[in-house]
Amino acid sequence: MSRERSVRPAIAVLFLGTLLLSACASIAPPPVASAPPREIASGVEPQYDVIVVGAGLAGLTTARALVAEGHDVLVLEATNRIGGRAFTDTTSFSIPVDLGAAWIHGVEKNPLTALADWLGFHRVPTNLDGPVFIGNRQRRSEERLEAFGVEYEAMEEAMAEKTCAGEDLAVSQFLPESEFRALLAANIGPLEAGTEPEQTSSLDASSFESDVDDFVAEGIGTLVARLGEGLRVRLSSPVTAIRYGDGEVEVTAKSGDGVETIRARRAVVTVSTGVLAARRIAFQPDLPRSKWDAIEGLPMGLLNKVVFEFDGDILPEEGANEWVLYQDPAGEATPSGASVMAFVIKPLGANAVVGFYGANQAKYYEKAGDKAAIEYATTALQQMYGEQLVARIRTDRTKVTSWGRNPWTLGSYSSARPGMSKMHEVLAEPVGDVLFFAGEACGPPEFNGSLAAALVSGRKASRQVHESLAASLAHAP
Ligand SMILES: Cc1cc2nc3c(=O)[nH]c(=O)nc-3n(C[C@H](O)[C@H](O)[C@H](O)COP(=O)(O)OP(=O)(O)OC[C@H]3O[C@@H](n4cnc5c(N)ncnc54)[C@H](O)[C@@H]3O)c2cc1C
Repeated sequence: MSRERSVRPAIAVLFLGTLLLSACASIAPPPVASAPPREIASGVEPQYDVIVVGAGLAGLTTARALVAEGHDVLVLEATNRIGGRAFTDTTSFSIPVDLGAAWIHGVEKNPLTALADWLGFHRVPTNLDGPVFIGNRQRRSEERLEAFGVEYEAMEEAMAEKTCAGEDLAVSQFLPESEFRALLAANIGPLEAGTEPEQTSSLDASSFESDVDDFVAEGIGTLVARLGEGLRVRLSSPVTAIRYGDGEVEVTAKSGDGVETIRARRAVVTVSTGVLAARRIAFQPDLPRSKWDAIEGLPMGLLNKVVFEFDGDILPEEGANEWVLYQDPAGEATPSGASVMAFVIKPLGANAVVGFYGANQAKYYEKAGDKAAIEYATTALQQMYGEQLVARIRTDRTKVTSWGRNPWTLGSYSSARPGMSKMHEVLAEPVGDVLFFAGEACGPPEFNGSLAAALVSGRKASRQVHESLAASLAHAP
């Protein structure tokens, strides 16, 4: 079943147009490419106004906005590509497949919607209320699905009530003792947050803006990579140390076989909390205690995908872009101990399926290996749709992600521990007016863990840095 798009009244379109213009001013491509780096005057003048660490959505948003304000900006990126956790594979399948972020969640309030439209990308509606299967081709009846929906809503309402009262508990406390418990637990924990329900913040879960969710036909990774155009981005340059103080920063990065130290007036760090927690960047002086508390309170969740393509028209009865839940009848006796997995059927209408699993299940399969993950997902597909479907899998077009093993993310996205939603704000606080922070973990709870959080935090950091630089110039002798 696909979703109908509502027709907006003309006045709303006009208003939206104005909003889009102002919202997009900071991301519109700058009129000229970045200026060449400043010469170091007698070895003391910083080479750049700002160094941005990381070329994901947060870093690119920050850099674009600062370049638009006339600042000299250098982006240092550890890997050999732009986009970070937004990564579209455009070569392995017959359609662009997003191996990281895929949805624009809650399109009505998501700032990414305006960005995608502004840049001419094509949004594709998806349906997150697809069928639910238990074991061998047992599709849940409409009546049971409705009962499932009612329990889901009751759980969300109970969480929202606590959120309004300022309480931030574990989502596990809101799970009903019913036939749907495992399904609800998997959806609200591993599949949404990448963490088990006992470790997932109810405040973040209930604040999250979702509902109407779109794909991007060209791939969200393609969209994010577009934001790198015209910026000075140095790839394959992992930052290993940042010294900060006295209105200046010194950033040390690997560069080819060597190491380079670059000076700037400000630095913006946009790496994941996984990378920060692993202390891949040495801060001198060390970050304040509050920052480490925030990093600890916002650990990385894990969500992985298994992508299958088929050699013919599959599942003619099923709608495209549908989210389908599968529950293993073996329950806790499955190899990973988890019983629920999700699939998107026919993404972008292709003869393909994308499987999803998170938290402990994802950790299990990252250890057990791609072969085990493919086998488990294949068994689930076979149980749902039968042997004919599985027989048409193209093994040369099957792919498994391992975001936990990626050294430059060390997980999929941050997930606040119970009681720790407030740490998003703490993580975003600047240190010493020279070191700034952006990235999905720094965004507001309503966008937690998502691209929208990266975007909003990048815009905020760019404003802070611009104000800080302007103030320092105003006070210069
Ligand atoms: C499987 C999966 C599914 C997801 N699904 C969705 C979804 O459907 N919708 C949604 O909105 N969000 C989704 N997300 C989350 C979304 O991808 C992230 O929130 C977002 O991309 C984070 O952007 P960022 O700029 O904060 O961080 P990143 O994209 O991680 O950017 C940080 C950059 O820093 C680089 N870096 C790391 N260490 C260093 C270093 N030492 N020196 C220099 N560079 C460094 C990294 O390589 C990376 O490029 C998903 C994520 C995953 C993994």
